[in-house]
Amino acid sequence: GSTIGIMGGGQLGRMLSMAAAQLGYRCHIFAPEETSPGAEVSAASSCADYSDDAALSAFAAACDVVTYEFENVPVAPLAAIAGTVPLRPSPRALEIAQSRIDEKRFVTDLGGRAAPYGFAETAEDVAAAIAIAGTPAIIKSNRMGYDGKGQARVMPGDDPVARWHQAGGVPAIIEGFVDFDAEFSVILARGLDGDIRFWDSAENAHVAGILDRSSIPASAAITAQVPAARALAAKVAQALDYVGVLTLEFFATGDGPVFNEMAPRVHNSGHWTIEGAFTSQFENHIRAICGLPLGETALACHSAEMHNLIGEDASRWPDLLADPANHLHLYGKHRAAPGRKMGHVTRISLEPRARQP
Ligand code: ATP
Ligand code: MG
Ligand code: MG
Repeated sequence: GSTIGIMGGGQLGRMLSMAAAQLGYRCHIFAPEETSPGAEVSAASSCADYSDDAALSAFAAACDVVTYEFENVPVAPLAAIAGTVPLRPSPRALEIAQSRIDEKRFVTDLGGRAAPYGFAETAEDVAAAIAIAGTPAIIKSNRMGYDGKGQARVMPGDDPVARWHQAGGVPAIIEGFVDFDAEFSVILARGLDGDIRFWDSAENAHVAGILDRSSIPASAAITAQVPAARALAAKVAQALDYVGVLTLEFFATGDGPVFNEMAPRVHNSGHWTIEGAFTSQFENHIRAICGLPLGETALACHSAEMHNLIGEDASRWPDLLADPANHLHLYGKHRAAPGRKMGHVTRISLEPRARQP
């Protein structure tokens, strides 16, 4: 069997490894942590810094294809191994997605609509950026932010420079607050041959900047905007000659979909596909990067609702297991912390069928 290298050892790497194992592949995780949710279910792992060139080239030599599950892997060392082993998706996709400003420019150049935004490299740029964004606004660090980290809101009357410092005092995008009806994501898989498949878009609800739940079916307001959002996502995938699973997050508004951000990887809002779709996002990512035909993405349920188990939520597992509609996933993380994603549960509803007596 072939070996798939995965940069990053979080829960996404874990679920990718599990899907890969089902198809007969072995996974090799590369991550700086000594133990990780991904490494614990994989055949091999390397514990080294992402920019450790010697460790990286040994890893590349041990793998037949390399992918990443973590957006903040440094691009330069990755680009260096791309000459020795196929790297899918390409380092270019990663490079764009690591910078909010590059990502916004890239997607708006392809015809996407984003909230009005300015860029504040230093405190001196904040006033001009706020003039473009208006208030309320959200300041987001240009790099390294996730789960709402590195963000601060600017309300009318606030001192924007103080808020910029609160968001880290680093180069940041400042964007106008979108008065949205709902949030959704488009998740697609693009194969080595350019074949594109979409899953249904879930309706996403966030609490304190962290995804709380994703629901299928989405509301009618979202469903009406899915075609335009998909067309944009497909353009992005084609422009990058993308191979693998790609996610774009949107706000559904009265004037159509507003692009928020993209992730060059499988996504938390697609975890419901493990039980709720014919082929999961994890399996199709593996199929895509291995050059296999993509699997059917149609719904395999009437409805699905994925809830994240954050921090101490995971201790509810005995109750969650007691309900037969629930599919419980725990990531094996050794320590719960507030805001930390410990697992998720997907509630599936099926058409009732007669059972053998
Ligand atoms: P993640 O990568 O974990 O999805 P993130 O830290 O990159 O999160 P965003 O997706 O940019 O952050 O923002 C998190 C949430 O904050 C959004 O899903 C949305 O609920 C809210 N939000 C972000 N930007 C805006 C905006 N311009 N207007 C209104 N709400 C926003
Ligand atoms: Mg993000
Ligand atoms: Mg987001």
